[in-house]
Amino acid sequence: MKKLMHLIFIFIVVNSAISINAAEFNHYFKDKTMRVDYFHSGTATEEHFAIDRIVSDGAWAGSLSHLVDEVNFGLYQFDVINPDDGTIIYSRGFASVFGEWQSIPEAGEQWGTFHESIRFPWPLKPVKIQMKKRNEKNNFTVIWETNIDPASRKVTPADLISQYKTKNFLVNGSPKEKVDIVILGDGYTANEMDKFHKDIERLTASLFAVEPFKSRKNDFNIRAVETPSTASGVNKPHPGIFNRTPLTVHYSSFDSERYALSYDNRAIREAASAVPYDFMYLLINERTYGGGGIYQLYASVAVDNQFSDYIFIHEFGHHLAALADEYYTSSVSYQMPEIKVEPWGANITALLDGKLKWHDMVKDGTPIPTPWNKEVFDKHAIEIQKERDRLRAAKSPESVLEDLFNKQKKEETRMISEMKNSGVVGVFEGASYYQYGMYRSSIDCIMYTRNSNDFCPVCQRAISIVIDQYTK
Ligand SMILES: [Zn+2]
Repeated sequence: MKKLMHLIFIFIVVNSAISINAAEFNHYFKDKTMRVDYFHSGTATEEHFAIDRIVSDGAWAGSLSHLVDEVNFGLYQFDVINPDDGTIIYSRGFASVFGEWQSIPEAGEQWGTFHESIRFPWPLKPVKIQMKKRNEKNNFTVIWETNIDPASRKVTPADLISQYKTKNFLVNGSPKEKVDIVILGDGYTANEMDKFHKDIERLTASLFAVEPFKSRKNDFNIRAVETPSTASGVNKPHPGIFNRTPLTVHYSSFDSERYALSYDNRAIREAASAVPYDFMYLLINERTYGGGGIYQLYASVAVDNQFSDYIFIHEFGHHLAALADEYYTSSVSYQMPEIKVEPWGANITALLDGKLKWHDMVKDGTPIPTPWNKEVFDKHAIEIQKERDRLRAAKSPESVLEDLFNKQKKEETRMISEMKNSGVVGVFEGASYYQYGMYRSSIDCIMYTRNSNDFCPVCQRAISIVIDQYTK
C-alpha cells in the first residue's frame, strides 16, 4: 500500500507539468535566450546560490512547444514560473560540477564554488525562478528561489558580438526544430584549426554511425566555434604538464587522472553563444585518455587517443540523456552511498520500484534478475583495472595503456559473445559504480564497456526521448 501511494504521488507530480504550445510561447516569451549566470557554492551538506549576471545568448535555439521538462532526468531542475498564477512556463532537469563535487571527500573539509548557467526563452514579464534538487527519496524539492524582471537594469538584453570564428558542419534546419550541438576546442593553436575541423568530422561521423543517432541524423545541427590557444595541449596536473588555455580544460578533475573538465563556465558560455546551441562538446587536443559528460552542461573528449571515438559517444550519452555509467570496476572519486531508493537514471535500476522502468522491453519468461557470467567477467575486469592503475602510477606512455585497453576489449568481447543472455534485454547485476545491488538492462552497452560502439536498447530509447524534446 505504501508503495502504491508513492507511485500515485509521482504520477500527480509528472502530470502537473502542463505542456505549452507554440502560440503560448509568444504569450510568455520572445525569440531570445536569457542566460542567468550564478555561483553555486557550499559544502557536502549545504548549498547556496548567488546571481553573477543576466545576459542575452541571442535567438532561442530550443523547441517552441516542449518547454516544460518531460523526461525528469538530472539531480537538479529549474522552473521558470509565471508569478500571476504559479504556472510553470519552462523547466529543465540538469546536472552540475557542484553536484558531483559534493560527493568527493574534499566537500566534507572545505567550501567549494562553481560558476553555472541556466538558459531559457526570454520572458516578456517578470518571472520567478525555482531551483530544485532531489531529496533522499529522489523527489525534487525547492532549494532556492529568485525573481527576475527582464526590464531591470541588472538584465543586459544586448546580444554578444562574438570575437570568435565559427563554422557550420551540419545544418538540417531551424535551430528551433533541431538538436543544436556547439563544438568548442581547447588546446588547439591557430595553426591547428584544420586539425580541429578534421577531429570534428571524424568524431561526429562515429556518433552518427550508432543508433539512435544513425537514424536521426536529420534531427541535428552541428556548429563549431574556434578558440585558439597560444600553445598546443591542455593542463595535465597528474604528469605535471601545465598549460593555460582559453577554456581552461584540465585533466585530474576531482583527482581522477582521466576526468577532463573545465570549471570555467563563463568562458565556455561566452564562446558557445557565438552560435545557437542546446548541447555543448569540448574537444581536447590531447592523446591522454580522458573526457567527461554532465547532463545539460557539456561533454568533453581527448581527441587523439585510440579510444576517442568510444569516449566521444559514451560521454555524449551522459550529457544528452543523463545516462548513468553502467560500469563498476573502474576507480572513481565519488563516495557511493548505500542504495536505499530507486535511482532516477533511465538505464539503471535497484529494483526498488513497483514497476521496472524498461518492463515493456523485456520478453516474457526472462528471469529477473537475469543470470550472466558475472564472477568470471568481474575478476578479469578488476585485474585489468589494477594493471591500469599501476601503469598510470608509473607514468607509462599512452601507447602502453592503449595496448592494455585493446587486450581487454578483445577478451571481454569474446567473453560476452559466448554468454547465454548476450543481446537480451533483462536486468543484469552490476551498474553505476555498484558491483552489487544495482542493475543494467543488457550485458553490454557503450555505457558499460569499450567493446562495441552500440548503446543498449534502453539507452537508445532514453536518447530518443530527449531528441524528441528538441525536434517535435
Ligand atoms: Zn545502456
